[in-house]
Amino acid sequence: MDNCIFCKIANEEIPSNTVYEDDNFRVILDIAPANPGHCLILPKKHTTNIFEIYSDLLGIVYKIEKKIASALKAALNAEGINILQNNGEAAGQSVSHYHIHVIPRHQRDNVTLNKEGKSLSSDEFSAIVDKIKAEL
Ligand code: AMP
Ligand code: ZN
Repeated sequence: MDNCIFCKIANEEIPSNTVYEDDNFRVILDIAPANPGHCLILPKKHTTNIFEIYSDLLGIVYKIEKKIASALKAALNAEGINILQNNGEAAGQSVSHYHIHVIPRHQRDNVTLNKEGKSLSSDEFSAIVDKIKAEL
């Protein structure tokens, strides 16, 4: 992808604060971190989101999440870790190159990621269960 900033970072055309790289991924520090140590896992080969992800990544994404989360826990004494991955503008994806946020967390760190939950009736829950099941 010619105009993709994360392709350029992943392939070293643009410098980054890289903490890890292998054949498939570059892991960088987010430029506007939710907390110090906030990492982004970038596949080197362009893919947009979970709907487009190529099969080679399916078996290895969880492994790299665990590797980076464990390193952040040890390096920064993180008491918790958030792993987030946004798909589509409606879900808050601002860069259209698949990426996984790995965010170190500490008690009372005032990071706000969780919004208040919506209230649904039991009929609404049931209708949604039926709709999702029909697609599986
Ligand atoms: P998302 O909203 O899930 O698409 O996340 C995009 C993330 O990329 C944001 O947290 C940005 O701060 C981060 N970001 C954007 N440009 C850069 C860059 N050049 N280097 C590092 N992180 C970036
Ligand atoms: Zn890209």
